[in-house]
Amino acid sequence: MIGTLSERIYFSIRIVKMGDWHQDLVIKNVSDEELDDVIDKVITYLQKTKIISTKKADNILNKDFGYCPGQNWDFVVRFPEEYHFLDLKTNGLEVRKGRTVFYVDGRDFKSIDCPNCGENNVECDWGELFNQWLKNPNLANLQCKKCGTLNSISEYKFEPKWVLSNLGFVFWNWPILKESFIEKLEKVTGKKIEKVEGKL
Ligand SMILES: [Zn+2]
Repeated sequence: MIGTLSERIYFSIRIVKMGDWHQDLVIKNVSDEELDDVIDKVITYLQKTKIISTKKADNILNKDFGYCPGQNWDFVVRFPEEYHFLDLKTNGLEVRKGRTVFYVDGRDFKSIDCPNCGENNVECDWGELFNQWLKNPNLANLQCKKCGTLNSISEYKFEPKWVLSNLGFVFWNWPILKESFIEKLEKVTGKKIEKVEGKL
């Protein structure tokens, strides 16, 4: 049953309890004007289906409150027998609105691929580019060393998979979310969703 790398990481984390595990459903290319509307669509759907509760609590890792799991949380995860996450303090859904680097963990990047030609530009100064992007995304362009195309660092493909975007839904310590759930949220929002997962 335990197949993919992410599943193996997930299980090893659960066993040794190294830290809090997060699955981020990230939506790219949402304009500032659209943000609240997209958030509203997702939260309304999740509450109507009782995947999350209307209740909020101190259950995420920042000063804000997150949504509590709802009575149907187990419909959207692959391993409903992992219900003990309900006993954890950190088990909420956090809405991240505003430019965010959705990260995996402390591992180094294997590749940072050009969106145009796929060339690996991993030796770029990505730390500085991320900082630039957070300050002003229009000034965070990287020119590919092979094809010479200039693209925002947020358009490059990272391995491990990090995503730079202004909207994400972070599920703290939930069991692995089903692909069908993510596809459903793509229908609800009309947008492509990228999943980032990692630990603190
Ligand atoms: Zn290129």
